[in-house]
Amino acid sequence: AVRLTAVTKEFGALRAVDGAELTIGAGEFFSLLGPSGSGKTTLLRLIAGFERPTSGRIELAGSDVTALPPSRRDVHTVFQDYALFPHMTVEQNVAYALTVAGVRKSERLARARAALRTVRLDDHGARRPDRLSGGQRQRVALARALIDDPGLLLLDEPLGALDLQLRQEMQRELQRIQRATGVTFLLVTHDQEEALTLSDRLAVLDRGRIVQTGSPLEIYDRPATAFVAGFIGTTN
Ligand code: ATP
Repeated sequence: AVRLTAVTKEFGALRAVDGAELTIGAGEFFSLLGPSGSGKTTLLRLIAGFERPTSGRIELAGSDVTALPPSRRDVHTVFQDYALFPHMTVEQNVAYALTVAGVRKSERLARARAALRTVRLDDHGARRPDRLSGGQRQRVALARALIDDPGLLLLDEPLGALDLQLRQEMQRELQRIQRATGVTFLLVTHDQEEALTLSDRLAVLDRGRIVQTGSPLEIYDRPATAFVAGFIGTTN
């Protein structure tokens, strides 16, 4: 679903992403793991199209999208603050992308309800976001991002603002939703345990470089560098 070839992003003298090589298969749950400042968010923004690489090539589903704007990439992003529209109901929030795309009302409603069923919020469609808990709002944001069946869903620390118990609950929920929809998930996290439990495969970043890519077991058992060994061994 995703292929990066020699992707570099410089901000002035700073090389935030340095020669990234990455292939993510369709339907994978993949994570980018690394400490603060290692370049995870920049890599995600390059894939979404919010940033252009200084050099290198980005392909999605076999097409070169390096020069395409975000709107022309089959990608949705869920951010940590998941800004829902406060004046709209949950159902209207979820159907928003379809409204913009001009899909007719009956179909919008049917698809919004199906998406809300996927995140187990079928009976909350008529509420306003401010009447929901943090975990429920997060699930609305997921339903909204999944409504038009994107080829790729980017998740930037989506659970970062939640307390520990809710975070663990939502981790299971994320995994269930990914399995149920089969959408390729790319999760950015600085939490080793989160990346190791949720992902089919992950990439570990250190100062802008991808230092190891593999399954959780491969990375846990055979860390490629002292940095990976140290980082995987620490707990948050
Ligand atoms: P965090 O977990 O703290 O979000 P991160 O791993 O996502 O960190 P990035 O946000 O990608 O890291 O940042 C990588 C480096 O690039 C950092 O040194 C950051 O200060 C720098 N950087 C990111 N965006 C910009 C920008 N627009 N202009 C200048 N420097 C930037």
